[in-house]
Amino acid sequence: MSVRPVDLRSDTVTRPTAGMRAAMATAEVGDDVFGDDPTVHRLQDRLAEMLGKEAALFVPSGTMSNQIGLRLHCQRGDELICEAQCHIFNYEQGGAAQLSAVSTRAVEGRYGVLELSQVAGLVRADDPHCTPTRLLCLENTHNRGGGRVLPLANVAELCRWAHEQGLATHLDGARLFNAVVASGISAASWAEHFDTVSVCFSKGLGAPVGSALAGPRDLIARAVRHRKVLGGGMRQAGIIAAGALYALEHQVDRLAEDHAHAQLLGEAVREIPELELRPAEVDTNIVIFHIAPEWGTSAQLHDRLAENGVLTHPFGPQLLRAVTHLDVTRSEIERACEILAHVIRAGASSAGQGTKATTGYA
Ligand SMILES: *Cc1c(COP(=O)(O)O)cnc(C)c1O
Repeated sequence: MSVRPVDLRSDTVTRPTAGMRAAMATAEVGDDVFGDDPTVHRLQDRLAEMLGKEAALFVPSGTMSNQIGLRLHCQRGDELICEAQCHIFNYEQGGAAQLSAVSTRAVEGRYGVLELSQVAGLVRADDPHCTPTRLLCLENTHNRGGGRVLPLANVAELCRWAHEQGLATHLDGARLFNAVVASGISAASWAEHFDTVSVCFSKGLGAPVGSALAGPRDLIARAVRHRKVLGGGMRQAGIIAAGALYALEHQVDRLAEDHAHAQLLGEAVREIPELELRPAEVDTNIVIFHIAPEWGTSAQLHDRLAENGVLTHPFGPQLLRAVTHLDVTRSEIERACEILAHVIRAGASSAGQGTKATTGYA
């Protein structure tokens, strides 16, 4: 008997639901590079409305959306400020430098949260020696921060400071809807602090492809040019936009289930003395925990779990991440909790050295 593994590697592994596939199969399409795909327009308009922005642009990936965002705000030689564990700094190949000649000032936060005192004073002088500081980027929820929901007051304070300093603000909201569901604060209330907001449809929302960048109409009009040169002009994109639109309409509220499942995993981790939640609280659908070196490494635990049908993602030599999503049921989560306890009790000794590289990108 072979049981399907409980796949907690990422919320990107979800397959389109039957309703989503049906919506995609029957989507009305046009050529979006000519601007005449009606489904893409419906998605863009719907998202802009949800975020309280004038316009939005559908793009193939969250990386492209962020890279277009920073390019809208920064010229060659400018600088952006971000949190040191964020996606833009760690998992986009240094795209700010590589694609746009923008340098990055990364400041280490606490589980993704920056304090105003850490950034106040970082804006460089108007001086020929210095690179002009132009942009503040935040990430919410914060992936390496363990799915942390940034405190709204903190976001408001940082963005107010940035705007007072003449900086633009960009939100990497790959999992913004997880923050919305966990906090009960609307997407528009989060988004109002930012000039541009990127969201992903292909994470917990469960669409197969796509992200979008929202902001003022004039910036989004310029974003169309950047998307084209980055290779993101798509033709009958309505087929995938229909999946994203279906996700916005039917698969936002259910993120609460993923959060409840992550709480169960968190409780299981708390009961195991060799493991420690990092951070100590689980806010959304991401659970990151530290493994006592006396037990073994994250690579070893990853392999032992995989042999027992639970897939996870090493996040550092002693850190492992598990992510809940719409393709894991409550009973599968309960099984994963039992297997975790069992594998820890059995010890790392039979595990070899572990084979998985430590990354943590998605
Ligand atoms: C996944 C992710 C992205 C974008 O990823 P793509 O794989 O390029 O769609 C951006 N930011 C964060 C925080 C993410 O988790």
